Amino acid sequence: MQIYLTNSLSKQKEIFKPIDLDHVTIYACGPTVYDRPHLGNARSAVVYDVLFRFLKSVYKNVTYARNITDVDDKIIAACLSSGIEFKELTEKTTSQYHEDMQALNCLLPTREPKATEYIQQMIEMIQALIERGHAYEVEGHVLFSVKSFSEYGKLSNRSRDEMIAGARVEIAPFKNDPADFVLWKPSSEKEFAFGFDSPWGRGRPGWHIECSAMTRAILGDNFDIHGGGADLMFPHHENEIAQSECSSDHNHFANYWVHNGFLMVDGEKMSKSLGNFKTVKQVLEEGEEGCVIRYFYLTTHYRKPIDFNQKAIKDAGKTVAKFRQALAKFNGEIVVDEEFQGYLADDLNTPLYLAKMHEYASKYLRDGDAIAQLKLASACDLIGLDLTEQEAVVPEEVRNLAELRNKARLKKNWKLADELRAKIVALGFEVMDGKSSEEMEIVKLNR
Ligand SMILES: [Zn+2]
Repeated sequence: MQIYLTNSLSKQKEIFKPIDLDHVTIYACGPTVYDRPHLGNARSAVVYDVLFRFLKSVYKNVTYARNITDVDDKIIAACLSSGIEFKELTEKTTSQYHEDMQALNCLLPTREPKATEYIQQMIEMIQALIERGHAYEVEGHVLFSVKSFSEYGKLSNRSRDEMIAGARVEIAPFKNDPADFVLWKPSSEKEFAFGFDSPWGRGRPGWHIECSAMTRAILGDNFDIHGGGADLMFPHHENEIAQSECSSDHNHFANYWVHNGFLMVDGEKMSKSLGNFKTVKQVLEEGEEGCVIRYFYLTTHYRKPIDFNQKAIKDAGKTVAKFRQALAKFNGEIVVDEEFQGYLADDLNTPLYLAKMHEYASKYLRDGDAIAQLKLASACDLIGLDLTEQEAVVPEEVRNLAELRNKARLKKNWKLADELRAKIVALGFEVMDGKSSEEMEIVKLNR
């Protein structure tokens, strides 16, 4: 099967040719684990999950690595301000990330390296960069010398001034050049506990070197596809290329660079720094199902920006209901459907893919055509659209109110119990009392 992908390196749709026909390798930049993923973060996970599932349907072996960034200034800042232990915070946030991605039916990647487990490889890579004249040590920092790599900027195609402005780099007096970026950074006194020992003293790696070291350790110097959000193209991915290609004799890092577009809210990118974000968990607690959110992401081509709004989610919900109706009595055996593989083979054309699913759903509902139904079921399976109805996620606030109400009932304080029930109803839920006072069930009201 001929597969086309838009390669950010050439800015063209190219025929995908894996290095090894029996084993395709993908790396995608994963989460920085300091708080819950928002809808923009999850778009990226869903896009690469669809690519992973599709490639697995075509090739014998696919290794998909997605890292966990558990060394970062934001994590340290969160620990210092909250007093939570470093490990406790990163482990808790990692499991929240898994929980939320599972709700969107994303498979676990084949490999999930944590940055803290690859510090030695990062140190070795930095040492190689120093030895090869691409990096220098100054005041406990190690910096990459951008001037030393003539191909710097080949991915993002930016002018030097744009690069300096876009990187929002610290114009530090110790830098030889304002465009140089950090490979190793010293720990301050209060950050000492979060640091690692290195030939340059106690400190921590820069974010970019983490991905370069982990891709090399897991996928080797040269691998097939590197993915990530469009906002990572510069400086993060540009810097990954510089570090990886300059630290070995192998001067070709990833063959295909795939970037997904932003998730927009009212014309602005959804981001933590803009404060206009919604977490996946919030949307689930508002009563949306994971498969509806997943469907919504796929309605727009992965490279384009997608606008998150109530209407779009509502429309996605209607379509999911239609597909459910068409598949309610399905008891056939799922197949790998070449027609649907073909839409994904064209640079993951999910809008066309979903449009065809609609056609088959309508056909089945109109004529009872068993082939149309089988195609629909197989198409759902290939992109991981699991239509099994999921129980509504009960928000913590509702659970707490239900607990209080239960206690009030045990004390026979009926007035308070009624008030609490009214509050629960106002939030869109109802408490069903069981035979004993402990057995209660919380259900979502259909409105
Ligand atoms: Zn990365």
